[in-house]
Amino acid sequence: MTDQRVAIVTGASRGIGRAIATRLAADGRHVVCVSRSQGPLDELVSQIQATGGSASAQTCDIADFTAVAEMVEGVAKEFGRLDILVNNAGITKDNLILRMSDEEWDDVINTNLKSVFVACRAAARPMMRGKFGRICNIASTSGLVGNSGQANYAAAKSGLTGFTKTIARELGKKNITANCVAPGFIETDMTKDLPAAVTEHIKGMISTRELGKPEDIATAVAYVTSDESRFMTGQTIAIDGGMTMC
Ligand code: NDP
Repeated sequence: MTDQRVAIVTGASRGIGRAIATRLAADGRHVVCVSRSQGPLDELVSQIQATGGSASAQTCDIADFTAVAEMVEGVAKEFGRLDILVNNAGITKDNLILRMSDEEWDDVINTNLKSVFVACRAAARPMMRGKFGRICNIASTSGLVGNSGQANYAAAKSGLTGFTKTIARELGKKNITANCVAPGFIETDMTKDLPAAVTEHIKGMISTRELGKPEDIATAVAYVTSDESRFMTGQTIAIDGGMTMC
């Protein structure tokens, strides 16, 4: 069993997840970097190791619920502990409600919400055994205030906030906290194809008048997964440049 705190970060191959994995490793955690793409994960692990950090790569399709549970249980078994779980992987399949297909609804709910339930359920037991746990679910401001074209995504992300409050109540007495970080508009692959006019409109809604960076989210995740955040649980922190203020 390692002395280091062991963290799982899903969706670590790029964007926000990659920044979270890099930050947690810099903070001294062993980070298990998870996504479907072996190549980018290997490249990330090499980069973390080159700067003195500790990380390993694990491919897993989080929409495959059996695979998610096996991945979480496997990490806990391999390292003899599981301290931190960051459920960051997510997808969008946007459409207006009149045009949204059952498949678009189900895919987003399954990937963004049900997989998080399965991962947290699998993580709870090893965290209870270790008498310590920090769960961070990546929500979205879309789930806080809604966003046209994202009924499926907003439902999943809003679902995460209620789910997280509930497990925070259930697991708190075991020294396990659960919080959400809700990004606003962040510069990643998920937002890079927005038309320039839409990006300008969005910037107009943001108090700081700029999109966020993945590292802005990683900073908040580093706090809610730290030992020092012990008295904070069941919360959702919006990191959105003052776009929602709710
Ligand atoms: P990206 O699209 O840049 O990256 C998504 C990550 O999720 C990739 O690493 C991808 O890995 C992984 N992923 C997607 N589907 C699966 C799957 N089925 N199994 C395993 N891994 C999967 O997204 P962002 O970095 O922008 O977003 C990260 C999180 O932040 C998401 O939950 C998103 O909803 C949320 N968010 C983002 C915002 C933004 O403005 N960017 C705003 C609000 C919330 P791979 O393809 O290699 O499997």
